[in-house]
Amino acid sequence: MALLVHKYGGTSMGSVERIEHVASKVAAARARGDQVVVVVSAMSGETDRLIKLAKAIDPRPVSRELDQMIATGEQVTIAMLAIALEKMGVRARSYTGAQVAIRTDRAYNKARIRHIETERLLADCNAGIVPVVAGFQGIDDDGNITTLGRGGSDTTGVALAAALKADECQIYTDVDGVYTTDPRVEPKARRLNRITFEEMLELASLGSKVLQIRSVEFAGKYKVPLRVLSTFVDGPGTLITLDEKKTESGVEEPLIAGIAFSRDEAQLTVAGVPDRPGIAAAILGPIGDANIEVDMIVQNVGADGTTDFTFTVSRGELDRAAEVSRKVAESLGAAGIRTATDICKVSLVGVGMRSHAGIAAKMFKTLAAESINIRMISTSEIKISVVVEDKYLELAVRSLHKAFDLEQAP
Ligand code: ADP
Ligand code: ASP
Ligand code: MG
Repeated sequence: MALLVHKYGGTSMGSVERIEHVASKVAAARARGDQVVVVVSAMSGETDRLIKLAKAIDPRPVSRELDQMIATGEQVTIAMLAIALEKMGVRARSYTGAQVAIRTDRAYNKARIRHIETERLLADCNAGIVPVVAGFQGIDDDGNITTLGRGGSDTTGVALAAALKADECQIYTDVDGVYTTDPRVEPKARRLNRITFEEMLELASLGSKVLQIRSVEFAGKYKVPLRVLSTFVDGPGTLITLDEKKTESGVEEPLIAGIAFSRDEAQLTVAGVPDRPGIAAAILGPIGDANIEVDMIVQNVGADGTTDFTFTVSRGELDRAAEVSRKVAESLGAAGIRTATDICKVSLVGVGMRSHAGIAAKMFKTLAAESINIRMISTSEIKISVVVEDKYLELAVRSLHKAFDLEQAP
């Protein structure tokens, strides 16, 4: 008998029929003799709908109240699933984050889980009752409701699995595993049987939203066996593994595990800044102080004693970043600032890159052959990212997928 955490995402919970289908999957696991704790998302589209409602009143709603509001989506689906399970003769009980006592810090909209009370959940399991827990939400020390950031139900699932010392955390979604890239952009993408935590972490942080990045961090830190599977078709899914470089057959991992991309990118250039020491700090210091995360940075070599300084931020933060940069530009006597939002980021990820040269060159050659201009480049040991015009996103992903033979099983 295993203890499993099942997490079902928004599409899986998207209608009465789908919730009944989820209930039948939980019932089947119970019938096999496993204990199950379930974590669910809101019905697909619900969180977006709630955010839109709040923003109709104020484009920058008070963060405490926004969390109070958007946490309601999951409160509906936990009860719906518990009702469906009970109707099937499976004993079940729904819990909000606060009822479980999923304790978080106070950072509304992006709270981090600090502690989970497991007593009640374990007592339910031992009594043959299936606990159904609301994903994405928790409670701070003062009893305020917090949420964990978009896609946060994945993190609730993994954190619960860690706290309960579950045998596996199973993330059920609308694809049957982790693919070499988003199958919606490249239909020839291939499902991976396994992927290392390191690679999954990079893919998630570079834009693959199949798992929230914090859930992968959590699973790596607490060594939670993590699997991504489909709610709708049976199959082995993708196992996220700790061991590096070896596949089942003991052969070396392929060079590239997958391609991630992100449309949530904006570029900001401070033009004509004096080319002298301290400029990067003068520009990025105030950006950091404003709590804006900077991703890629390029400073060109100056010609006439001045230079352009360019960096990227997420689109939602561009206005604030521009406001801050405009002031800095003035104080530095720079020519001014320029912004662009018609960009995207495409990244190759693979632990195999560590031991291979020439991957960057092949990437650039592939993009050049499609006449795709590269605006920025950034590399690390296991990834190469480029910023290109967003109208080329699909073309870039597909041509790289083909060039690196990702559709072929290694
Ligand atoms: P859920 O609502 O179940 O949490 P999400 O929409 O958050 O589901 O995540 C699943 C989606 O992630 C898929 O439908 C797919 O379009 C997208 N996705 C992006 N990159 C990948 C990838 N490498 N492998 C599989 N799916 C991916
Ligand atoms: N409902 C939340 C969202 O849409 C959390 C989740 O689905 O994981 O972001
Ligand atoms: Mg998700």
